[in-house]
Amino acid sequence: MVMGASRSRRYGSNYDAIVVGSGPNGLSAAIELVRSRRSVLVVEASEEIGGGARTKELTLDGFRHDVCSAVHPLGASSPFFRSLPLEEYGLTWVQPAVLAAHPLPDGEAAALFRDVVQTAERLAVDGSVYRERVGELVARWPGIARGVLGPGLRIPRHPRDLARFGLIAGRSASWFAGRFEGAPAQALVAGMAAHANVPLDRLFTAGVGLMLMLAGHRAGWPFARGGSSSIVSALAAHLTAIGGEIETGRHVGTLADLPNARAIVFATSAWTMAEVCGDALPSRYLRSIANFRPGPGVFKVDWALSEPIPWRASVCTEAGTVHVGGSFEEIAASEEAVDRGTVSERPFVLVVQPTVVDPTRAPVGRHTAWAYCHVPNGLSADMTTRIENQMERYAPGFRDVVIERHTMSPADFERYNASYLGGDISAGAMFARQVLARPAWRIDAHRTPNRSIYLGSSSTPPGPGVHGMCGYHAARSALRHALR
Ligand SMILES: Cc1cc2nc3c(=O)[nH]c(=O)nc-3n(C[C@H](O)[C@H](O)[C@H](O)COP(=O)(O)OP(=O)(O)OC[C@H]3O[C@@H](n4cnc5c(N)ncnc54)[C@H](O)[C@@H]3O)c2cc1C
Repeated sequence: MVMGASRSRRYGSNYDAIVVGSGPNGLSAAIELVRSRRSVLVVEASEEIGGGARTKELTLDGFRHDVCSAVHPLGASSPFFRSLPLEEYGLTWVQPAVLAAHPLPDGEAAALFRDVVQTAERLAVDGSVYRERVGELVARWPGIARGVLGPGLRIPRHPRDLARFGLIAGRSASWFAGRFEGAPAQALVAGMAAHANVPLDRLFTAGVGLMLMLAGHRAGWPFARGGSSSIVSALAAHLTAIGGEIETGRHVGTLADLPNARAIVFATSAWTMAEVCGDALPSRYLRSIANFRPGPGVFKVDWALSEPIPWRASVCTEAGTVHVGGSFEEIAASEEAVDRGTVSERPFVLVVQPTVVDPTRAPVGRHTAWAYCHVPNGLSADMTTRIENQMERYAPGFRDVVIERHTMSPADFERYNASYLGGDISAGAMFARQVLARPAWRIDAHRTPNRSIYLGSSSTPPGPGVHGMCGYHAARSALRHALR
């Protein structure tokens, strides 16, 4: 299927740029190129646009589930998204009253709110440390965000803000949690940092957790009303309105599959780009991409629910996201187990419950939720029982409210989207070396040694998430070089 105004051009003439992949980064790259007055075609393998931001009725009619991304602290913080009129094309961010809750084995819960003081109040003994350490950085978030959502190795525009952030961010989550005395604050740090899918004693894991907290305090952790697909629908509608074109159902196997263009931006994994380009890229660069490692995978369950989840800790009932995994030690052990190639009996489970704020996701009075746990890359074992056992620990009677479930293993994710190699939803592990050199050591991470070929997926800085910044930076690089 072809979307866009000048459909005839595809068969007659060349484009300035082709973008491969219509996920949030591909569409963002295309928008940046078109608004810089270049002609662009986006080519997508699937019949549907959207990559990791699609919404489908996975369980029953009327229950709309986000297949991949659901919660968007970085989307709401993205300087690129904020520069676009996405609301005019149907995107509405909806914020839960509680951004994220973290139930504890004693029935209490830590929670992240928009307000730093409200968050600190629940942390009892650690409240003042949280207010001081995190509160100071919240004020600096606009400068920090420019850096952490930036193109990678560059002289920062806000060096002081970034340096203050870096004092914590470069360290491990274990170190960061050690700044607090009580179990609730330590667990809160663990749940945030575990989004990195890396053991919590590794460098930069504090940074992932802290970034999500700061983004939450400044921009929230919103859902997109109606589902994450409304983010990519809005991007695609804007793109075609300003003159870009999109062709779906067209898998790119080699460069010969593409029309002529002065620049090609791959918004696919780095490995897909390497496979498609073959010897159009120098062998040294291809070796670096071969050394770029995928991270662990995920196993995900989507539920259609008859009632809200019966959480024991009441603050969880209003939370968009719930980190289920107990204490810092339990979560650290869970992430460590995955790194060793196994799965804990009590895995860290990331739960989202969109119907807390978005009733459009289910028939009246019904609910949806999804959950995933980390697993070794490519693992084929079914994790449904372990995930639901964890749910029962913190929400007794949970299974009684499940009407239907749908599961996706690492292999299902790879089939669904070639970028999720072995179920790695980050398109490249987020350990220290690969945070700094993503996907290879280069000053301009988005530019390959071939002047016509660029990489703009979450295999590049600033990394995974629905924020469009990788695509934006790749487009800017192409505009500076191939498309000058
Ligand atoms: C289970 C899960 C939960 C997640 N939760 C969140 C969340 O809550 N919040 C958040 O911000 N992020 C989340 N993410 C991550 C987020 O979805 C990704 O980081 C984001 O989608 C990456 O965008 P992208 O444009 O780089 O790539 P993708 O969205 O992966 O898009 C790549 C596109 O390229 C296409 N493609 C691949 N190969 C080819 C080819 N050879 N030819 C043509 N087309 C090709 C694919 O079909 C796909 O459409 C989640 C991901 C998963 C899987």
